[in-house]
Amino acid sequence: DRLRLPQRIEAGKTLRRTAELQASVSFSQLGVSSAIQNSLKAMSIHIPTEIQAACIPPLLAGKDCIGNAKTGSGKTLAFALPIIQKLSVDPYGIFALVLTPTRELAFQISEQFVILGNAMNIRTAVIVGGMDMMAQALELGNRPHIVIATPGRIVDHLKSGSGEWNLSRVKFLVLDEADRLLSASFVPELSYLFNVLPKERQTCLFTATLTSSIENIASAPPRPGKQKPFIHRM
Ligand code: ADP
Ligand code: MG
Repeated sequence: DRLRLPQRIEAGKTLRRTAELQASVSFSQLGVSSAIQNSLKAMSIHIPTEIQAACIPPLLAGKDCIGNAKTGSGKTLAFALPIIQKLSVDPYGIFALVLTPTRELAFQISEQFVILGNAMNIRTAVIVGGMDMMAQALELGNRPHIVIATPGRIVDHLKSGSGEWNLSRVKFLVLDEADRLLSASFVPELSYLFNVLPKERQTCLFTATLTSSIENIASAPPRPGKQKPFIHRM
């Protein structure tokens, strides 16, 4: 809930940062559409956080992005707003895949997408372990625009070939809590997913911790025809 943010960050820092952001930037100045600004107002969100101010413009401009900011700093909206704003341009097939390490995080992310996307008839599906596979297969068959998933379960669905859906139209991949997703335990699932996802897509990584694997991605030479990712360090 909206009250959590200021309480989680030390008071002095929040006040200073909020004042800076208030003075210098609004969602409108970041390029966020007026429809989305209205949804934000309904959520009582008025001023972007630092990570949002840094990452929303490059993501709207089509760049890849690595966003590093502490827990509670609003990383979800830093990727959810650009995804929802860009989605209206291509409403066919699964547009965005958001990967996150735990089902609790998946549901928390989904809440924010649902609130923002409702007015725009955006369908989201949460595909996580420990829930009914059949019900999820039906949800995936219902042509969601955004899928929020834990790696193991979405790979289970892909391997079982349960439906008509696939990931071939994904334009936007998010690795949320990327430090954990890039740890050894997720390597088989992530390699499987990277093989089936289209190469032409935007990718963004969000993390509270910059690990060596993320630093390696940040410093790797970009693929031919690709720009280097935008990087925001806390
Ligand atoms: P993180 O992923 O960085 O840990 P979240 O994206 O979960 O943080 O956001 C934490 C809380 O802050 C959420 O309840 C969210 O609704 C709220 N929040 C996000 N952006 C803003 C903002 N610009 N102003 C006020 N509250 C915000
Ligand atoms: Mg988060």
